[in-house]
Amino acid sequence: MAQQIFNIVMKVAKENGVEKILEINLEVGQLTFLNPDQLKFALKVLSEDTIAQDAKIKIEVIQPEIRCNSCKYTGKISYNGPEYHAIYPVVFLKCPKCGSTDVEITRGRECNIKNIKAIRKEVT
Ligand SMILES: [Zn+2]
Repeated sequence: MAQQIFNIVMKVAKENGVEKILEINLEVGQLTFLNPDQLKFALKVLSEDTIAQDAKIKIEVIQPEIRCNSCKYTGKISYNGPEYHAIYPVVFLKCPKCGSTDVEITRGRECNIKNIKAIRKEVT
């Protein structure tokens, strides 16, 4: 996952003529079970000796949201399961309104690059 994120960051940087990456802002859904600290560390390792080597990496954890097929509730759910547990690929979620398990996850499984702060090469 870190490698994928890093590749995208570097691709975007290259396309935009970036000389140095200052900050990488990520959004990681709670249901991805990615540990932000581990992800940060992996990105740090990958960015060694690249234009991103001094970049600050910020990770925002996104709370899960669902759509209930029974009562049509949409919105956040409180999820008290194991926060970062790689062994649980399937999460058992319940609608907070009616208790149904017939729910679709609408947020919380994404891993997005929110934005990148960087210095562009001088265009002459
Ligand atoms: Zn419901």
